[in-house]
Amino acid sequence: MSYSFIKQKLDQGRVVILDGGIGAELEKSGADMDKDLWCGKCSVDNPELVRKVHERYIDAGADVITTNTYGTTPISMKQYGYDNLIEKYNQKSVQLAKEAAKNKNVAIAGSVSTFGSFYRLGLKAMIPGFKEQIKILSEEGVDLIILEAMSSQADIVETIIECSSNISLPVWLSISCVMEDKKVMLGYNDTVDTDTHIYESLEVAIKNFTKLHKGPILIAHSDINVTGQAIKTAKNNFDGVLGAYPNRGYYEKPHWKFVDNMSPEDYLNEAKSWVKNGVQIIGGCCGVGVEEIKAISILKD
Ligand SMILES: [Zn+2]
Repeated sequence: MSYSFIKQKLDQGRVVILDGGIGAELEKSGADMDKDLWCGKCSVDNPELVRKVHERYIDAGADVITTNTYGTTPISMKQYGYDNLIEKYNQKSVQLAKEAAKNKNVAIAGSVSTFGSFYRLGLKAMIPGFKEQIKILSEEGVDLIILEAMSSQADIVETIIECSSNISLPVWLSISCVMEDKKVMLGYNDTVDTDTHIYESLEVAIKNFTKLHKGPILIAHSDINVTGQAIKTAKNNFDGVLGAYPNRGYYEKPHWKFVDNMSPEDYLNEAKSWVKNGVQIIGGCCGVGVEEIKAISILKD
């Protein structure tokens, strides 16, 4: 467990394999999804299963696994009355990832997310929560922090970046994108029954994010059909390391709805096109599971 071999691979222009979605994979494996914290409670309620999901991704070839902390942000936990359990849930998730990665050449990404960071709360009120989750995961021993600012407005993304700017661990940034009039926009479209949320152009967003964020940027939790174009736009506006881990399916709270419209081979073909366009970190988000990670792991060199 360490970031040095990941850094070495990235510096050498090689491909790093990230895991697939955690929440959707837990659901597929029979775990209960919580109406408030989504998959966040599984680490305490069903630790064996969480460890197993991590192990399956490692066996499939993942170089980096992500902690099951997307849903256990201090901001969301406080909203739903879990104030006293923030440390316990987040620490337990790191411990499970560490157990799965023990004695293996696998790095652990601590997922610090904007889950539950609704705009009405105000940006200032989000800062303590972002900082708290970064602190807990860092102290518990993750190898890097991944800011999963997916589905969030640009100024929320900028706020979470600022909260990570003075830490000693490497920081990756994940953002989600949608298309509007053939232009890639920061935004999201998870559900089939609500409008697409569109914030601002990816081009403008990346220019602003990179004023503070110097680590890799990953196009995540986006439709696979948008991902290729988003990568091209990101590349035109950013010199650093790029990553991609799209979705498959859609969310109907608190369940991820799987859509069986793509084989692992199809996913591999998509991933090949991203790599051809300069992407170095590839994995999957919600609805992309172990079989797809196994398929794309042949792109490791
Ligand atoms: Zn996702």
